[in-house]
Amino acid sequence: MGFVRVSPVGGWDIQILLGQRVVVHSHTGPVPGVIARKPIHLLDPDERKTVPKMKDLVVDIGSATEAETRQIVRIGDMVTPEPCLRELRNGRLAGVAMDDRVGIWVILQALKLVAARKSAARVVAVSTVQEEIGLRGAITSAYSVNPQIGIAVDVTHATDCPGIDQNEFGRIELGKGPVIVRGPNVNPGVFELLMQLAEQHGIPVQVGALGYPASNDGAAIQISRGGCATGLVAIPNRYMHSPVEVVAESDFRDAARLIAEFCLAVDSISTFVLSET
Ligand SMILES: [Zn+2]
Repeated sequence: MGFVRVSPVGGWDIQILLGQRVVVHSHTGPVPGVIARKPIHLLDPDERKTVPKMKDLVVDIGSATEAETRQIVRIGDMVTPEPCLRELRNGRLAGVAMDDRVGIWVILQALKLVAARKSAARVVAVSTVQEEIGLRGAITSAYSVNPQIGIAVDVTHATDCPGIDQNEFGRIELGKGPVIVRGPNVNPGVFELLMQLAEQHGIPVQVGALGYPASNDGAAIQISRGGCATGLVAIPNRYMHSPVEVVAESDFRDAARLIAEFCLAVDSISTFVLSET
């Protein structure tokens, strides 16, 4: 029949995947497909109540036979959701992989802003690979760049949508500015300087607390080699790891401005050790 079976790379919610348009990245080029499930009419009462398992998922590429599929798709080919971007009201954008395309946009924009002025620090922007499967690109990049200070830019959960308990996850809203994270993964001096610069330049920010290493590149950067003064700047994101992740444009513009100001503010005597007084 020519269907393709899949297993997840990174964190996927099967309920989100059902009914999606996807692309199989094959040696013959991108192959369009859809993720299928039998129609509701044909589900028995028990099936209607249960969530299918990842092993039940199939991609339909329109192939008529197994032989046809095998000519086009090889075992191990990657499958991704179809790229999309939808502009919503109030400068909000919905699309696939905002996590972490917005991070790349932020560091590139920050780099442009820094380049237009004069910085005492050497500033390096890195777009890391394989963050979702063990921060692997951050580990090698932090080792190679060997920075004294590192700022990880990622998305964080916006909690301003139905079903999320703000008592448990904090109040993080779209359009209220990037989130500056505080906690053991973050150097207190880097946090304070980010806060101070935000205030000085009128950049709106929100603060998030995290009691454990972040599940992003910041965790790897902080313990690279002999340690690195690490900061975390996060863009609020609704519906993370879905093809319709929603972010606010103003948040990532503000994040870029803040990171640029930070890069311009540090120099060779910036130590990021807080005095005890
Ligand atoms: Zn992610």
